[in-house]
Amino acid sequence: MEKEEFMAQFGEGYGYPNAPKNIDEIRATEFKRLQGLVYLDHAGATLYSESQIEAVGKDLTSNVFGNPHSLSDCSITTSDFITAARQQVLDFFNASPKDYTCIFTSGATAALKLVGEGFPWSRESCYMYTMENHNSVLGIREYALEKGATALAVDIEEVEYPSIQSKAHEPRFQFCKHSLQRRAEAKSSSSDLNGCTYNLFAFPSECNFSGRRFHLDLVNIIKDDPVKSFGGLLHGQGSWMVLIDAAKGCATEPLDLARYPADFVVFSFYKIFGYPTGLGALIVRNEAAKFLRKTYFSGGTVSASIADIDYIKRRDSIEQLLEDGTVSFLSIASIRHGFNIINTLTSLCY
Ligand SMILES: *Cc1c(COP(=O)(O)O)cnc(C)c1O
Repeated sequence: MEKEEFMAQFGEGYGYPNAPKNIDEIRATEFKRLQGLVYLDHAGATLYSESQIEAVGKDLTSNVFGNPHSLSDCSITTSDFITAARQQVLDFFNASPKDYTCIFTSGATAALKLVGEGFPWSRESCYMYTMENHNSVLGIREYALEKGATALAVDIEEVEYPSIQSKAHEPRFQFCKHSLQRRAEAKSSSSDLNGCTYNLFAFPSECNFSGRRFHLDLVNIIKDDPVKSFGGLLHGQGSWMVLIDAAKGCATEPLDLARYPADFVVFSFYKIFGYPTGLGALIVRNEAAKFLRKTYFSGGTVSASIADIDYIKRRDSIEQLLEDGTVSFLSIASIRHGFNIINTLTSLCY
């Protein structure tokens, strides 16, 4: 009865019209463990399906996965899986490998920390973020404030001006200052060697608390003309980079990076297809990756280091520079089965 009422109201567009099975069939075959249960924490973690885990098990028992840093046939097997997985992630976000690199991390939070740690903050920099944001995004401000930068929380209102031209309703945004923070005792650190100031704007594609979805046009508007878009809120100069926390948003709607060329995008895989946990990624625009400073070095990030001399030789590629230690290669090898499930439910289109 309740279901009939629900279907009468929301039936149109309910389910996955292109999927081979309807939702009741999917639940009965792929989520048998849910019998008699109602799971309401999809925003916290998506549930993996049975066939996905079966396929992962088959992979693990039929392949020999060596450490990707070794030199052997089985390390090449692993490297091939990792390369294919990076490409699949970029495809999911419609990002060309010419412009973007997929860096595997232990989750969205670790990816955010990587950006915060490496960002070229100076006293002139500003870290601006929307009030609606995950704690893991707010945490970046500690790196900014420590370097003497300003942190600014803003509210964004979407205003639609009916335009006189035919362009109909272009979204415009109004930025309202909420609070500005600066740490008096911060160590002075001036602009980049070449005199440039870098600023960062961070927002979630969807807030996991309120459910609000932010318009991705923010990326283009801020990057094209920051001074105008902030409407006098800031007098700071320099260039602006944009970070999207897609951890919640991409669980239901992947971002199109060809259309909204953010500099950094972070997410965790378990929010998209439930398994594996402990794996996420930073999708970084190659141009922006050049500005990230890395202090720590580790196995994987250097080709040589000497214990008793201050000498290290860092590796060249963006992946090698930013991924510390051995990546979670068995988890990475399993994500293709998660993407397979997504692809059977819906054909991705942009
Ligand atoms: C879940 C979530 C995070 C944090 O992800 P972790 O997997 O805990 O690192 C960050 N932002 C948003 C919007 C989230 O939904």
